[in-house]
Amino acid sequence: MTSSDDQAVLARLQSVRALVVATHEKPDGDAVGSAAGLVRICRCRGIRAELWLPEPVPLRYRSFLEAVAPVRTLSASALAEFDALVLLDCARPERAALGPEWTLAQLPLPVINIDHHLDNSVSAAVSWVAERAATAMMVYELAATAGWTLTPEAATLLLLGLVTDTGSFRFSNTTPEAFRAAAALLEAGADQERVVNAVYFSKPRNQQEFETELLSRCLRRGAGGSYLYAVMPEELFARHHFDMRDGEGVIDLLREVEGVVIAGLFYARGAWTKVSLRSKDARFPVGPLVRKFGGGGHPMAAGVTLELPPEEAAAVIGGEVEKLLGGVSGEEGKHEISSR
Ligand code: 5GP
Ligand code: MN
Repeated sequence: MTSSDDQAVLARLQSVRALVVATHEKPDGDAVGSAAGLVRICRCRGIRAELWLPEPVPLRYRSFLEAVAPVRTLSASALAEFDALVLLDCARPERAALGPEWTLAQLPLPVINIDHHLDNSVSAAVSWVAERAATAMMVYELAATAGWTLTPEAATLLLLGLVTDTGSFRFSNTTPEAFRAAAALLEAGADQERVVNAVYFSKPRNQQEFETELLSRCLRRGAGGSYLYAVMPEELFARHHFDMRDGEGVIDLLREVEGVVIAGLFYARGAWTKVSLRSKDARFPVGPLVRKFGGGGHPMAAGVTLELPPEEAAAVIGGEVEKLLGGVSGEEGKHEISSR
């Protein structure tokens, strides 16, 4: 089990002179924002810091990384120039995005692990795992505790992480502390308009067409209507030249529907199926459900990758969702606890 110690993490961060910062594969807004934000904070402190991002990030986040200039690959000799690797927002060692040449266990560097997934299983030299709305919020707290300068650019990146992981302060992880952190980031000069325009008002035309077809042709219901899900066929992606790397938020098109308690998305990844689940009701968390299958995430937003074709994965997960939602059905289901 990962220990949780913000003081030890802070002490390490204060003792290093050169850092590599990495995050999870298929980086999302919090991965990009927390990692690039930490890099900018470190550089401002006179520490050499590089962002290690082997994969391209979603289109909407690319402009945020221009000044940070991430590196794609790092050789053993390049890594030897650093004192530690900071791993952000990455709950499992095998999800760390280090490129094909490295695994976390092989790295010739101590790992500083900072994450808000409470099921984090990364073993590291020092770890801070805590219940926060976003990993970016944890980076903000470290900076605030240590008195590190937050430039407007760094604050913008941390706000990007906080905005995306809270769904713009709509999800249940939106605590008073999350709002306080957001307020402090705005005071530090974060460009909220830039974040919101990039995340919510920059949808490419092909994505809109993809989503239109998804909503009109792929939706299915279970549990008396309280489970809304979609099995997305390969040809849907091909027809619209759309990749789920850019699909953060697509599941919210299902979650936002009235009466839906759990939303699910299924799509093939080679011979496997990627499953994403979201819940709108804390009485029916999806985190424990996917953990039965080796998945993970947060109570209300979780995922798993199953070695099954999409239809079979949907049948297996659908059965569990039906059991979980049990007595929830139709209109009254939104407000009443089942009486089993
Ligand atoms: P998403 O559904 O957006 O891919 O992920 C939601 C949450 O579930 C994230 O916190 C992510 O870490 C977790 N998650 C998503 N897919 C997987 C998976 O295949 N395995 C595990 N262990 N966690 C996942
Ligand atoms: Mn996150």
